[in-house]
Amino acid sequence: MSKIVFVLGAGASVHSGTPLMNNFLEIAQDLLRRGEVEEVKADFENVFEAVGKLHAAQSKAIIDTYNIEDVYAAFEMGKLLGRLPGIEELDQIDGLISSIKKVIGFTLEKTMMLPTKAEINGPVQYDSFVDIINTLLSQKVECSIITFNYDLGLDYSLYKRKIIPNYGLEDVRIGVKAIPYLKLHGSINWGRCNNNSCRKVVAYRNFGVTEYQNDLGYSILPMISKLRKMKCPFCNNELDKDPFIVPPTWNKTAFHEQIDIIWKKAAIELKDSEQIIIIGYSFPPTDMFFRYLFALGVDLKTILKGFYVYNPDPEVEGRFRNLLSSGIEQRFHFYNVSFENAIGQGPFLMGTNIETIQSILNV
Ligand SMILES: [Zn+2]
Repeated sequence: MSKIVFVLGAGASVHSGTPLMNNFLEIAQDLLRRGEVEEVKADFENVFEAVGKLHAAQSKAIIDTYNIEDVYAAFEMGKLLGRLPGIEELDQIDGLISSIKKVIGFTLEKTMMLPTKAEINGPVQYDSFVDIINTLLSQKVECSIITFNYDLGLDYSLYKRKIIPNYGLEDVRIGVKAIPYLKLHGSINWGRCNNNSCRKVVAYRNFGVTEYQNDLGYSILPMISKLRKMKCPFCNNELDKDPFIVPPTWNKTAFHEQIDIIWKKAAIELKDSEQIIIIGYSFPPTDMFFRYLFALGVDLKTILKGFYVYNPDPEVEGRFRNLLSSGIEQRFHFYNVSFENAIGQGPFLMGTNIETIQSILNV
């Protein structure tokens, strides 16, 4: 439905301070050591203990125990299979899943460098990205964002510009300017209603009044504690205690009813897209969902005019080339650069011929 679809991965958020998937647990451990997550200390310890057992139990490193998505996926699969090395009781696995959501949520919350009150908008590169979005929306160009990220860097920048992210949840209130913004793995500002006859997923949206400044000079959005105080707008019940985030595995069964509506909307956005621009998403071989979302959702033959991938990891090029059918090579462009360079910022890279997002879209 959208002419331009942006697809964002963790590499797009890294400039705002959040960890990548493969150093996430390391950063989380630093937070624990520095005493910055006292309120959820037991959850952090619980996860690290289980990760240690998982690591020790593998004769070969099939599961990357340094990668948060792999670990989260292993916990979910452990629940499905009723087995996780070193964990005796199934109830304990449930506890672990709840703990890892807190680890993800609090780590993102504590590391995201939002500007102080004196400054205006969001994290600097997201801010420039929102400039592009703003221009496209003003020109009435249909565009949308699909993201694998749980964090709120872009959400924050959009709200600061009074552009409402339309998450595709039922609680959406469309403002004057809104953009479909589909978070395929959930978000740390989403919570699920605790009432069994409701169970709707709703979003906390009051971004403007939730900041305070930390010692390092940037603002913090204490989203999880805000979410815990929020009531369901449909039935006025409490929400689940943990944010609504889902692991990147095939086993989305536990989340299926709530998340499949978002995936369906993503497929609709991709269906008639003319330009697909992928930033900081490294398309891990295990992400079969995206493979199918793309294969079933995109009309490669007739409608797609350009497929652009920006990623500092050169290996990513091959993964996307394998995904695309022959005949669209002319339309496929891979740029071995970061988000910063994609939006025309950062050091000029000698000898490279990068088309910035602005030049692709004429904005
Ligand atoms: Zn409810």
